[in-house]
Amino acid sequence: MSDEKYVHKDCRNYAPIDVRKGFCHVHKKEVPADTEVCAKFERIAKCRYCKNFCADKEKIELGVCEASMSKPKFVAYPDMVAVTCEMYKET
Ligand code: SF4
Repeated sequence: MSDEKYVHKDCRNYAPIDVRKGFCHVHKKEVPADTEVCAKFERIAKCRYCKNFCADKEKIELGVCEASMSKPKFVAYPDMVAVTCEMYKET
């Protein structure tokens, strides 16, 4: 894992309610999406943490999946959850 700073929405224990908040399954309470994580943090698989994700780092946001067999390759965004993606490769 990198030295990247994580927030609740990057945690496997976080279930989103809306864009601003979600529910933590460990602490059994609502937490803000974008605030600092606790010691129980477990990083969830997302496109941003996958070796196949390719995007312009200056612009962030939309990129493509390099493992995609589609032409053109399918569009991916960094926060896309990838827990069921068979092509996911942890960075
Ligand atoms: S409070 Fe901790 S365990 Fe719960 S979602 Fe946030 S980082 Fe994850």
